[in-house]
Amino acid sequence: MRDPYKILFEPITLGPVTAPNRFYQVPHCSGMGHVRPRAEAAMRGIKAEGGWGVISTQETEIHPSSDLSPYAEGRLWDARDIPALRLMTEAVHKHGSLAAIELAHNGNHASNKLTRAPSIAPSDISIDMIQPRQARAMDKSDIKEFRRWHRMAARRAKEAGFDIVYVYAGHHMTIPHHFLLPQMNDRSDEYGGSLENRTRLIRELLEETKEEVGDTCAVAFRFAVDELKGADGMQAHEEGRGVVELLAELPDLWDVNISDWSNDSATSRFEPNEGYQTKYIEFVKQVTSKPVVAVGRFTSPDHMVSLVKRGIVDFIGAARPSIADPFLPEKIKSGRIEDIRECIGCNICVSSDNLGVPIRCTQNPTQGEEWRRGWHPEKIAPAHALEPVLVIGGGPAGLECASQLAKRGYEVTLAEASDQLGGRVAGEASLSGLAAWKRVADHRIYDLQRRANAQIFLQSSLDADDVAELGIGHIFLATGAKWRRDGVGRSHRKAIPVDGSVQVFTPEDIISGVEVPTGPVFIFDDDQIYLGGVLAHHLAETGAHVVLATPASVVSPWCDNTLEQERIQASLLSMNVDLQVGKTLARVENGRAHLTCVYSGKGKTLEIGSVLMVSERRRETTLFEALKQRRESGDLDVKTLEIIGDAASPGLIADAVYSGHLAARNLGEDPKRAEQALFEREIISLEG
Ligand code: ADP
Ligand code: SF4
Repeated sequence: MRDPYKILFEPITLGPVTAPNRFYQVPHCSGMGHVRPRAEAAMRGIKAEGGWGVISTQETEIHPSSDLSPYAEGRLWDARDIPALRLMTEAVHKHGSLAAIELAHNGNHASNKLTRAPSIAPSDISIDMIQPRQARAMDKSDIKEFRRWHRMAARRAKEAGFDIVYVYAGHHMTIPHHFLLPQMNDRSDEYGGSLENRTRLIRELLEETKEEVGDTCAVAFRFAVDELKGADGMQAHEEGRGVVELLAELPDLWDVNISDWSNDSATSRFEPNEGYQTKYIEFVKQVTSKPVVAVGRFTSPDHMVSLVKRGIVDFIGAARPSIADPFLPEKIKSGRIEDIRECIGCNICVSSDNLGVPIRCTQNPTQGEEWRRGWHPEKIAPAHALEPVLVIGGGPAGLECASQLAKRGYEVTLAEASDQLGGRVAGEASLSGLAAWKRVADHRIYDLQRRANAQIFLQSSLDADDVAELGIGHIFLATGAKWRRDGVGRSHRKAIPVDGSVQVFTPEDIISGVEVPTGPVFIFDDDQIYLGGVLAHHLAETGAHVVLATPASVVSPWCDNTLEQERIQASLLSMNVDLQVGKTLARVENGRAHLTCVYSGKGKTLEIGSVLMVSERRRETTLFEALKQRRESGDLDVKTLEIIGDAASPGLIADAVYSGHLAARNLGEDPKRAEQALFEREIISLEG
C-alpha cells in the first residue's frame, strides 16, 4: 500500500464495534431488498469482499404501517423477516466487514398500498407522493407504539446479526425527520414547537435503541443537516447545527448528509464536483467527539485522505462510488488507483429503485447480477479457446465487450470507423453538464490500451469485404444507432412534413459542432428521456434562442427517475428556454413550426430558424445484415456473428455497456445453458 493512503485503512471504533477501515457504504436502495434477498445479500457481500469496512442495508421498514410497496426496500416487520436479512449479514461478515441496518418508519412517505394500514405522521398531512391518501397525526399512544416498534425492530436486527443499527432522520422520508421539520410538525405538545421538543422523539429512539442493543451494536444516527431550501427549511448552520448540539454524544456514529434525496444523490449534471456536500456537513465534527461519515461521490483517494486529515470525517461514505466500483477500497490498498471505475453521477442506479427493478449501473454492468448470473465485478472466466475476436465499433458496447474479451485472454481486434473511441459517450460527454460521462469510455480505453492481446484500429470503417478478409471467426458488431432526421418517433409514425424552408438537425449534428443559423432553434423532443433537455441547455448556453416542444406535460419526464426532472425544468426556465409542453410538431412551412396541442387539438404557429429533431434512433445494421447474408449463403465461415449494444436495441448507455459485457461473458458458453435459464430467479416458496 502506498503510504499516503495508509490513513484510510486504519480501524475505527464506534461504540462496541470496530470497523476494519474507513470505507463506509452508507445505506442505499437496490431495487432488490425484501423481494430478492439472495440477490441483495450477494451484492452487499461483494462490496465487503472489495474492501468496504461497513456495508449497510437500504431503508428497512420496521412495521406494516410503513409499507413502501411496490418498491423493493428492506423489511423487518417481524421475526419472519430475520432469515432473509441474515443472508446479508453473513455475506458481509465473511469478509470481516461490519453490517449496518437502516431502520425506517416512513410516515407520510409510506402509502401502505399492500397493508392498507392508516398512514401516520406528526401532523395531519398528505402522502408525499401523489397518492389519494393523507396521514393522520400521531397521538401519544401512537408515539408510544412507534417507539415500541422501533425497539422491537432493533432487537430483531441484532438477532439478524447486524453490528450497527440506525435511527434515520433524512431525505424527508421518515417519521423522525418529519418530527424535526416545522413544515411537517405543527404539534403543540412536547413533541412540537421548540427545536428541543421536535428533537425529543429522536432522543428517545436513540436512547431506547442503545438500551435494547447497545451492548453489542453501535447506534448510528443518519441526519440531513440541510434541506437546501434556505430560510424556508432546516439549514446546516442554524437548526441543523442545533440538532447536532442537542444530541452530540448520544449516537455512536453521525451519518450526515443533505435532504431531500435529489440533493443528497445529486447528479454530476447539476453537481459536477466531488465533495459537493462538504460545506454543509463540515461543522459536525466540531460539535461531537463521535465518528462522522459523509458522502459526496468520492472517488479520488487524495480527496479522501484530505477529508480525514482536515478533520471533516472519520469515514469515507459512499453509495454510488461503491456501486460503480465495489472494489474501490481494494484498488486503493493495492495501489491500483487507475483501475478504479469511477461513478459518473448519472443516477441510473437510482432510476432502478424508482422503477422497482434490481439495481443497474452505467459503469458497473455486474451490479445487480451478482447472484442471479454469478457475475463478479473483477473476475471473469478465462477464454474457452485462444481464438481471435473482432469487435466492430468503439462505443460503450464495443469497448466493454472488447475489454472483457481481452481480460478473458482472447486476441482482440477492435475496429472503429471514426478517429476516436467512445461512440455516443464521447459525443454526449461533450454536451453541457455531461463531462463526467466520459469516464465510461476512459476506463475501458485505459484497460484495453495496456493489454498486449488487444489491438485498436481507428479510422477503420469496415465493410463486409474487409471483415471477410480478416478471417476472424468471432465477430461482434457494436455499430450503434443514429438519431433520425425525419421526426418519426413516439407520437409520429410517419415523417413530419418539413418544406425545406429551414434546416433540420439531429443531435449528432449539434454534438459535431455544426453551427445553427440565427433565429430560434426549435427542438422537438419526442424522445422525452434526457437528451432533448440536455441539448436545450447546451444550445441556450451558447446564446441561442431555444424553443423546446414536447408532447409530454413536462420537460424530460423520464428524468423523474434520476431525480433530475424538476432541476432540468427549472434550469431551462432560468435560461429563458421557451417551453412548449403538451404539443406535437405537425409540420414546418415557410419558416414556421405548426404545433398541435396533444389534449385539445388546437393549433399554434411559431417562427423558427431551424429544427432539431430528438425523436428515435435508427440502428446501424447494414454491415451486420451483409455479413449475415454471406454467412447464410455459405460465403462467410464464422462461429460467432452477434449484434450488440444500440445496434441491437437502442437504449441507455448502461444498456449498451451491459450488452457488451453479456456478449463477452457468453462467448464459448454452452448455448444450451444460456437457453435453459437466462438467470436464476428467486421464486416464492409454496411450502408451509
Ligand atoms: P453503442 O452505444 O452500442 O456502443 P455507439 O453508437 O456509441 O453504440 O457506437 C458505435 C460505434 O461504432 C461508433 O463509434 C461508430 O463510429 C462505430 N461504427 C459504426 N459502424 C462501423 C463500421 N462499419 N466499422 C467500424 N466502426 C463502426
Ligand atoms: Fe454512478 Fe451512474 Fe453507476 Fe449510479 S449508475 S453508481 S450514478 S455510474
